[in-house]
Amino acid sequence: MDEKLNELLRTVRRNAAGAACGVCRKTEELVSAVRLRQRIAELEREEAARLAEAGRMVYATHTGTPTPTEALLEKLREIDVLKAELASLRREDGRCAACGAVIPEGDRFCRACGHRL
Ligand SMILES: [Zn+2]
Repeated sequence: MDEKLNELLRTVRRNAAGAACGVCRKTEELVSAVRLRQRIAELEREEAARLAEAGRMVYATHTGTPTPTEALLEKLREIDVLKAELASLRREDGRCAACGAVIPEGDRFCRACGHRL
């Protein structure tokens, strides 16, 4: 996908009359928005995978194969880091930092999860 976006940018730049062309600027904004959403989707998949791993550690403990506390805490810290990066990127994309829902302008709380904005 990144290759296609880069090719699109190159094509637009090749065909543009000058560096300040409006189509170029719009295209670059669009490409940035797509990249931001791709990164958010990637982090959401990573977060889901880490949460599943933490869940398996807890369940293994429940069923008699205790996970060392430090290993579980390390996994939880990894999830904290992912959540912080996700929150930042979601805000940048005009979405709720907690759940990723689109936020209508002027709202003070997320309509999907109630998170204070
Ligand atoms: Zn929300």
